[in-house]
Order: sequence, then C-alpha cells, then structure tokens
Amino acid sequence: MTLKDKAVQHASHYFDEGGFKKDLSELIAVKTESQNQKYNLKNYYKNNIIPMLTEMGFKCNIMKNSSPESNVFLFAERIENHNFKTILTYGHGDVVLGQDESWEDDLTPYKLIEKDGSFYGRGTADNKGQHFINIKALNSLLSVQNKLGFNYKILFEMGEEIGSPGLKLFCEKNKEKLKADVFIASDGPRISQKTPTIFTGSRGGINFDLSVSLRDGAHHSGNFGGILKDPSIILSHAIASITDARGQINIKDWLPTSLTPKIKQILSELPLVDAGFKLDPDWGQIELTMSERVFGWNSFCVLAMISGEPNAPLNAISGYAKATCQLRFVVGTDVKNIIPALRKYLDDHGFEDVDIHKTDMNPFPATRLDMNDPWLSFVKKSLESSTNLKIDLLPNLGGSLPNDCFAEVLNLPTIWIPHSYAGCSQHSPNEHLPIAIARQALLCMTSLFADLSTSEKV
Ligand SMILES: [Zn+2]
Repeated sequence: MTLKDKAVQHASHYFDEGGFKKDLSELIAVKTESQNQKYNLKNYYKNNIIPMLTEMGFKCNIMKNSSPESNVFLFAERIENHNFKTILTYGHGDVVLGQDESWEDDLTPYKLIEKDGSFYGRGTADNKGQHFINIKALNSLLSVQNKLGFNYKILFEMGEEIGSPGLKLFCEKNKEKLKADVFIASDGPRISQKTPTIFTGSRGGINFDLSVSLRDGAHHSGNFGGILKDPSIILSHAIASITDARGQINIKDWLPTSLTPKIKQILSELPLVDAGFKLDPDWGQIELTMSERVFGWNSFCVLAMISGEPNAPLNAISGYAKATCQLRFVVGTDVKNIIPALRKYLDDHGFEDVDIHKTDMNPFPATRLDMNDPWLSFVKKSLESSTNLKIDLLPNLGGSLPNDCFAEVLNLPTIWIPHSYAGCSQHSPNEHLPIAIARQALLCMTSLFADLSTSEKV
C-alpha cells in the first residue's frame, strides 16, 4: 500500500465509523456569532481548535487584532524543516446569527443533526465544516507517517461574517510569520455538488450612492407639478443611462480587459451555476455566455432606491431621491477610474444634478491567479486523480472575499477548494453540509496532502 492509500484509508475509516460527525458536532455546538457580542468567541480557539492542533504537533498562538470591532486571530504552525515547502491556510470560526426560530421544526442551529443525507447546523458549511475537513485530512497523513513532509501554517479569524476587520492589517504586519509558498484554503460553494471546484480569486465590489437633492421638503404636485423638477425622474434617467434595458453597461471605462481567449475557454468548460432557482438568460452582456457574464465580466446593480415616503405616499413632488448602487468587477478593471469615469459620463449626458457619494472607503479588490501557475496545475491534477472526475476550474468567484490579503499583501498563489454547494443555506436557516460532499472532500484533501508530501517539486 502506498503512503497515499494508507492515509486515505485512515480518513475513510474515521469518517465511516462516525468520528467525523461526532467531532464536527462539538464544533457546531459552540456559539460563535460574530454579529452578537455576547459570545466569547475566543473559546472556540481555546476549547476546540488549539487542543486539536496541539495534539497534531502545531505551535498555537492567539494574536491581537488591532481593529477594535473584531476578535483575536489564531496563528498555528508546524514547521518540520526550513527547506521544505510551506503551505498557508485560512479558516473562520465565526458564524452568522443562528436565526433559531426559523429552522425546520426538527432542526436547531447549534446541534448537529443528520437528516436526508446532510449534516445540519450553523457553521456546517460556512466555515467550520470546511476548515475541519482540511484539519482532519492533514491529521490522516500525520497518523500514518508521523510527519507531513512540508510545513503548514494556519491563520484563523473570528470576524469574517462582519467583513474581516483587521485581517488585511494583520497580514501586512506579519508578512514574515505568514511567509509561505502557496495558499490553499476552503470556503464558499462548489459549482456542482458532485465534483470538486477550484477557484483562485474573486470579483471585487464597489458601492456608491447616487442622489439628487433639489430642495428642502416636498411640494404639492397639483400646484407645482409641471414647473418643479422631479428628483426621482432625473435619478431614474441617470441610472437608466448607465446600462441599457437588459443591464449591459454603457460606460466604456468600466469594462474589463481580462476576458482573454484562455479565460473564455476555461469558462466554457464549466456547468451553469446550480442556483436552485431560474436564471435570466436574456439579462446581461448579450454576446457573452452566462458563465462569462458572472465570472468574467463586470455587472452594475441598484441595491436600494428611495424618494418621498414609500410607506405613506403624499401628493407631492419630493425634493430628494437616492439610490445605493454597486459595481462588481473582475481583474483588468481600472478601479481608480470607476468613480471619475462615472462622474464624467453623467456630466456628458446632462446629469450634473446627480451627486456621487462613495460609501466604501476601501472597495473589495478583484483577484485571480495566473491560469498557468504551477501550483494550480499540481492541485488540479491531484484532485482529478483522486476523484477520477474533471475538476471545475473557476478563475474567480462572482462574489467577493478577502483574498487580496493573501494574493496581494502576502503575494501568494491562492487556491480555494470549496467543500460546500450553492444550496447549502449558509447565512439562512437550515444550513447544511451534504455528507457525500464532506466525505469526498476529506478523501481528496487527504490525497492532496499525501501528494504534497511525496512530490519533489511543484
Ligand atoms: Zn459566511
């Protein structure tokens, strides 16, 4: 039996004999809502993660977060040899609110319950189940050979669900400590349930308000209608000029330059996102495929709009209208020019009355790894050989995540292997992790670590 076979056998026994379910239950039982200050989130490190990692030969350090809004970090490392390659990983132990009242009758957020082929509980998918799978995969390798054959560093935070306050600064201040050859972590959904997905970055996002403020208060629409400008109509026309009626962006400077033939080819191999509801093929950039529209292109949307008193409309012309808008963008977008280009575009189209107010101090940057990166080929090959499946390779997620901390601040190749799926109800009641995904993920991560252990070079 090869080392890999032994490690995978160890992992499958652990899973099939109930060890995985039992141990994950203990993690799910810890209430770690980061939006709820009454919980002491440090306990998840102290009582759960640190004992587990210490037993695996890791040195663990709870470290300060300089952001007052968030909780401490946990840094753990197992350094076997300074000449070995080093992998950095990341996980978040915090969860969103439990929403206890809204779960199905036989389910409750902080008790792991097995039902219909899934483990239910808050954090099973986002992110406790995912980082736990990786720790246990690593443990299977350690159990059969007492060494990894590489160095492994783990960064944990307890504030991801409130926007990872302090994470970027922590990475900037601890570059030496976090130094590695590659970043490999797990969060977010796979594209399809059956097949592992790799993604290497995320779209960025910038939020801003557009407002038209013409006068104080509202004025009688009978007495003044026809002789007073209506801010809602002006704002609506301004927004309607930014895209056409199917959402195609009209501002040329907002478009990306990165949808190359190579990226098009990679995206063409992906199945369509399994959202669980009907998508709109007649929306977005007409000449692009649906995958290209969401993963390879930029999209503009209106998050909220208000004028007058929507709950108690008066027969009056409002003095004010406001819309909160967002541009999601891929790499290859001139981010610094997004707001100036919008200002120029609105002025050129006669909308000088529309004010732009940037609501984000730091927009989420877009990231994506070079698709020819050797680490990417190594990981993809390993996952394909252990699962016998063609991996879904996604250059970047459509959504955003703090990947720039690792890709830009630490300058690492970033590879994400998500162990969940789009219908897992993360961030809503009935969050769950399908057992088939958990088991397959544990085995293929174990194989990946065994491949890293025995490979000479990546
Ligand atoms: Zn989340």
